[in-house]
Amino acid sequence: MIPFLDLKSINQQYQQELKEACARVIDSGWYIMGNELATFEQEFAAYCGTQYCIGVANGLDALTLTLRAWKELGRLQAGDEVIVPANTYIASVLAITENDLVPVLVEPDEDTFNLDISNIQNALTEKTKAILPVHLYGQISPMDEIMDLANEHQLLVLEDCAQSHGAQIKDKKCGAWGHAAGFSFYPGKNLGALGDAGAITTSDKELYDVLVALRNYGSHKKYENKYQGVNSRLDEIQAAMLRVKLLHLDKETAHRQHVAQLYLDGINNPKVTLPKVTMKEGHVWHLFVLRTSERPALMEHLEQNGIQTLIHYPTPPHQQAAYNYLNELSLPITQVLHQEVISLPISPIISLEEVEYIVKVINSY
Ligand SMILES: *Cc1c(COP(=O)(O)O)cnc(C)c1O
Repeated sequence: MIPFLDLKSINQQYQQELKEACARVIDSGWYIMGNELATFEQEFAAYCGTQYCIGVANGLDALTLTLRAWKELGRLQAGDEVIVPANTYIASVLAITENDLVPVLVEPDEDTFNLDISNIQNALTEKTKAILPVHLYGQISPMDEIMDLANEHQLLVLEDCAQSHGAQIKDKKCGAWGHAAGFSFYPGKNLGALGDAGAITTSDKELYDVLVALRNYGSHKKYENKYQGVNSRLDEIQAAMLRVKLLHLDKETAHRQHVAQLYLDGINNPKVTLPKVTMKEGHVWHLFVLRTSERPALMEHLEQNGIQTLIHYPTPPHQQAAYNYLNELSLPITQVLHQEVISLPISPIISLEEVEYIVKVINSY
């Protein structure tokens, strides 16, 4: 069986380094908000090309706390509209509604799966105050155009980079385009911890100051609380794991890109639509997602030939019970995508022989 993702083997590649980093934390006697976190924050900000990075407990908190911080700064208010792609993972939408902001679900471009400019333009109203582009499956959204539009209309931009660590347009990485960005380091993400973790990147000092307090009970200074904050800290062990994994990220991304190219070049079954890549460095292939109107049968064919596939995602946010007041929205592109997408195995350790075999099996369907 070719598994969809073999996390154990991925982390075993770095077993020695991870164990040493773990031991370093155990021996330090300091487990929360110490040197590992501060160093990881510097290293990840440098990697993304931003002034600041703020480690938090997970990717959802990274998004939620950034919107919350903009409210604390008076840049957003309850009831403001935030444009978000309708086909995203539900976390992007939860971050908006958790802050009493209004998600405006916008259809994606059906070839790239990402927001495009015309769809955003059509959704603008007097109440639009922010855009939350999601670099879905690892492909960066058209951030140059999105920032031009945002500047023209004085909108805030929060990038959801949970799937796109390292994706770039013209040497500028995701996380450095928007006014802020949220990252997830959930174990299965391209940069994955060995537990939950997340971060915000920004070059805005005011925002940075608020976020540093919000993640730690709203406190800038021990026992002084400026905000009604939360406990959302990235602990020392996970920061140490991430420092190891970050050293290997670009090499792993290069392998993902190589595998994706083999899929793109090799798959020629007319029943399958391949994903569209806007620019090579713009896609870090968190997932390789193709489309077919015969999904159950193709998945069955792959399964019978020992290939595990998954669906990202079976149900869009607006059709979830959690958002029953959005269930009646008509979003035909999003709905068709959710019926047609299949994710093939792709990872830093999948072998080229395995990829060739998967191509053959798809073409024989
Ligand atoms: C994984 C993910 C998140 C949430 O990250 P967690 O660390 O699991 O909270 C947010 N947005 C997208 C697009 C994701 O894929």
